[in-house]
Amino acid sequence: MATTVAVATMKVAQISKPGAGFQIVEREIPEPGAGHVRIKVQACGVCHSDVLTVEGYWPGIQYPRIPGHEVAGIIDEVGAGVSEWKRGQRVGVGWHGGQDGTCLACRRGDFRNCRNLKIPGISYDGGYQQYMVAPVEALAAIPESLGAAEAAPLLCAGITTFNALRHSGAFPGDLVAVLGIGGLGHLGIQFANKFGYKVAAISRGSENAALAKKLGANVYIDSQSTNAADALQKLGGAKVILATAPSSKAMSELINGLGPNGKFMVVGAT
Ligand SMILES: [Zn+2]
Ligand SMILES: [Zn+2]
Repeated sequence: MATTVAVATMKVAQISKPGAGFQIVEREIPEPGAGHVRIKVQACGVCHSDVLTVEGYWPGIQYPRIPGHEVAGIIDEVGAGVSEWKRGQRVGVGWHGGQDGTCLACRRGDFRNCRNLKIPGISYDGGYQQYMVAPVEALAAIPESLGAAEAAPLLCAGITTFNALRHSGAFPGDLVAVLGIGGLGHLGIQFANKFGYKVAAISRGSENAALAKKLGANVYIDSQSTNAADALQKLGGAKVILATAPSSKAMSELINGLGPNGKFMVVGAT
């Protein structure tokens, strides 16, 4: 006698092979293994780096693969051995998807450079699904004050700009320029403003001026109509230039905008 057991399923947006585009399919809801939790995904940011999975630019990806590394949600199941995280807790998962804890870099506390670093959406299925399983090393607690849709982009784009600026050596009052007002830049301007810097936002054309000011830029420099490096020198020279626009030409042209001992930080790659 055959018995049918109802299997709980969910919707996922997967890439079946490089270049094939997204495909919405039903999959069985996964169970978290030891040291893992299952997250009910509430929001997942869209990052340019998703293209690595979509087009197969990252070596060694096993398909089908579900992209997404800006995940915000609620833990709905914990695997064996998980004691620090509870069901119902709000968590996020970003680019750092877990480390082995044993390699030389890990033993030095430099988990970011783990030789077996895992990346959600590349090493294992990411946030473009209703339920996602992640190792506890990848989890970040989300405060109650932050909504899921607001928190999600902070897990990758936010960390990229926040960490760059807070380690930049700039102090409140210093001139900090943010090149580009896209996914990274619009967050970089807001963080720079909150850090108390004098913020110069740089982009092409005048149409971004109002947005840049609204995000907290003190000055907007239109690099199409002005020499942006000269404009920064007129303001005293930048202590830090945070280059988020993925254009090596735009970056090169801006280097002369640095003041003495200035620092040029490249976070948008092309
Ligand atoms: Zn990203
Ligand atoms: Zn390691």
